[in-house]
Amino acid sequence: MEKECEGGAVGIDLGTTYSCVAVWIQHHNRVEIIHNDQGNKTTPSYVAFTDKQRLIGDAAKNQAAINPTNTVFDAKRMIGRKFSDPNIQKDKLLSPFKVISGVDDQPTIVVQHKGQEKRLCAEEVSAMILMKMRKIAEAYLESPVKNAVITVPAFFNDSQRKATRDAGAIAGLNVMRIINEPTAAAIAYGLDKRSNCVGERNIFVFDLGGGTFDVSLLTIKDKVFEMKATAGNTHLGGEDFDNRMLNYFMQEFNKKNNLDISGNSRALRRLRNACERAKRVLSYNADAFIEIDCLFQGIDFCSSIARTRFEELNMDLFRECIDTVNKCLTDANMDKNCVDDVVLVGGSSRIPKVQQLLQEFFNGKDLCRSINPDEAVAFGAAVQAALLSEGFKNVPNLVLHDVTPLSLGILTRGDLMHVMIPRNTTIPVKMKDVFVTVNDNQTVIRFDVYEGERTRATDNSLLGWFRLSGIPEGPKGHGVMVTFDIDADGILNVTAEDKATGNSNEITISNNTGRMSQKEIARLIQEAKDYEAEDKKFLEKARARNDLDDYVYKIEKALKGMAKGKGIITDAIIKAKSLLYGGRDQHEKDVFEKNRKELEIVFEPMMPRLEN
Ligand code: ADP
Ligand code: MG
Repeated sequence: MEKECEGGAVGIDLGTTYSCVAVWIQHHNRVEIIHNDQGNKTTPSYVAFTDKQRLIGDAAKNQAAINPTNTVFDAKRMIGRKFSDPNIQKDKLLSPFKVISGVDDQPTIVVQHKGQEKRLCAEEVSAMILMKMRKIAEAYLESPVKNAVITVPAFFNDSQRKATRDAGAIAGLNVMRIINEPTAAAIAYGLDKRSNCVGERNIFVFDLGGGTFDVSLLTIKDKVFEMKATAGNTHLGGEDFDNRMLNYFMQEFNKKNNLDISGNSRALRRLRNACERAKRVLSYNADAFIEIDCLFQGIDFCSSIARTRFEELNMDLFRECIDTVNKCLTDANMDKNCVDDVVLVGGSSRIPKVQQLLQEFFNGKDLCRSINPDEAVAFGAAVQAALLSEGFKNVPNLVLHDVTPLSLGILTRGDLMHVMIPRNTTIPVKMKDVFVTVNDNQTVIRFDVYEGERTRATDNSLLGWFRLSGIPEGPKGHGVMVTFDIDADGILNVTAEDKATGNSNEITISNNTGRMSQKEIARLIQEAKDYEAEDKKFLEKARARNDLDDYVYKIEKALKGMAKGKGIITDAIIKAKSLLYGGRDQHEKDVFEKNRKELEIVFEPMMPRLEN
């Protein structure tokens, strides 16, 4: 009952596969990682739709095997991206749920909900997960939670960050700050060990999660964190290791039974879940067993896998992780011997082989494992949230400096990328440069804003474009001042100003990718509220039904217990049973309640006699 956090703020690690919420408890001067209703500290980033209800978290993941086409996961892979993005096209092929192109080339998830088709964007799905995390925190704190710091991978671009912020808004949260996951982990780490270190420390954060891999080089000096370089792979993580094991067992099943299960999504998901569990076991055991009843065509599947075999299956992926570590250090121009600490983050960093390879790469250096890898990001986010909230005392006063993950620039003549802000520049940052007209009497200049490292602008990704018009006619070479401004959240604003004429047209990027309009956000907020009401209604109905069920059970037991009770079966019991088991849940809450009252009128007066 930590009432002091009333109106306070939480930190949310919105993961691709698992999410985690934490809060700074001022009373105890420490961070608390909050358990969900299942008693787990991380919650699957899953949302499922059935013909009766919507499920989020463990409940959604647990029923994925029987409802694969309506169980949505990995929304973080889609957020802030276009449907035509090659990454989405690739993911789509493997996805058990349907993804189509929606308005504005937005990836749209199609599911069946209550017998009707429902379309969702990634922001909505993420919002549902954020709402769940918020509820988990509210249940623990026993007070409403409004404010949050949400984390994103360091390689998220501007559009992905904005879309994450939108998801927070849809979930009814005031998103105080979007911070990079490795930065958050470093905050947790800084708190844990080095809050009073002298001089500069170089910290390498190795975050291998469920769907993404993210490495970062940070420095901490006088409690100031600075991100030096980042690298990563948006498509490498625990799920890939699960898939390798899945293929292995699929082949084994095929060999044993001459049956191919690859076309059966239910069997695949059940086997995949078993693989994930086996993989976790292999992090502390040399062998793991798999046992699935009636996996396919009534055939049970029992098998085992040794850790060494698991390592063989994934060795190329593990090595790829180490190559990325190397690339990050090369980018930062830092010798690996200059790294003071190597920090493990993400559930998959528990894999012994990964730890071994990483330790070997750093010439046998001890790795930092003191932070629970699944919780470090949420931990740091909670500290940052407390820092940003008023009224919090004793939070170690850390200052953050993130960097731009990719270079940002403008397309100039000949399709050249003119870099305004180079990659790995510490933010917030503002850069200005003059652009000139290239033709005589040119009155309009078009600015295309790109992100990426390629020389040819169009090889990079287009973030948006806008025009500055009203330039007075005259010879070419008329200058216009362009400003790139990235705020502390990593969100970019580009403006162009015609200083010479005193014309200061306010310009904003018109077709910025992935950004939803305020109207669209408002609509989704309303929808989220409707869902909440619906969920509440469902819960009340389920409770009323269970109450009636319990009561019928109680009377029947009491009646059975006594000789003279055996004959007493009233219409009310028959009716109750038909309500409970006959109609397949079509009744409303008050129907159950009314029936229970009817039963009470008959049985309550005789209950003391029956119970004796
Ligand atoms: P995210 O990438 O969503 O941030 P996490 O960092 O929580 O997720 O990592 C989740 C991944 O970690 C999952 O693939 C899960 O199977 C894996 N994982 C969790 N615990 C272990 C373990 N003990 N050994 C190996 N992998 C694990
Ligand atoms: Mg993570």
